[in-house]
Amino acid sequence: MNNCDIVKDLLPLYADDVCSEDSRKAVEEHLNGCPDCKKELEKLRQNVSISPQKDAEVLKRIKKRLRIEKLVVGLISATVLVFVLLGTLFYLINSDCSMDMERYDIPNNVYVSEVDGMLMLCVKGGAASFDSVYPTFSDINGNHLTYDKDYDKNIKNGIGYTLKQRKISRFSNVDMGNLYSFAYQVGTVEKLNENNIEKIFYYDDVNDKEYVLWESEKND
Ligand SMILES: [Zn+2]
Repeated sequence: MNNCDIVKDLLPLYADDVCSEDSRKAVEEHLNGCPDCKKELEKLRQNVSISPQKDAEVLKRIKKRLRIEKLVVGLISATVLVFVLLGTLFYLINSDCSMDMERYDIPNNVYVSEVDGMLMLCVKGGAASFDSVYPTFSDINGNHLTYDKDYDKNIKNGIGYTLKQRKISRFSNVDMGNLYSFAYQVGTVEKLNENNIEKIFYYDDVNDKEYVLWESEKND
């Protein structure tokens, strides 16, 4: 063991000022003539010299960073939530669903009226809160266009309508009384007869049921 090795062993004690008087003197003497060991001491002091104040600062910085991370995560979550809500709203506004037959009293509020050979599909009361009318045709066998794959367009004999509402109108107040009514032009009796359309019906797409609203008097 040379002197440097002995001094380096003593350096931690020297740095903490806990070595004996003789050792301290010996170390100091050696340090004066050995830049290598002096450097070692400086290194040692730097490592040891983390003061409580510095600890507090480091802690503060860590806490600050944690707070920022929490904030960022919160902001991202809030943004995602907003987009999910907007998406749901957009979906509800833009997608149709069938009218509730009972709630809107469809059988009593949807009828066909004939004026001078012109046939009108009339909708009144809560049923008039529909958002779209889906025309459908039926063939002689009772199959419906868009609802039955067996529908035969060459032998159609009925023209029907299904009212649809936006999903979101389900939350709306039904009690609109007779405030609203709507008439939808179906065509003339003559034209329907020409095309062998024998009936006009309301089609309940939920229960797959026809409500016949008008029937041709023409008998083949
Ligand atoms: Zn040395």
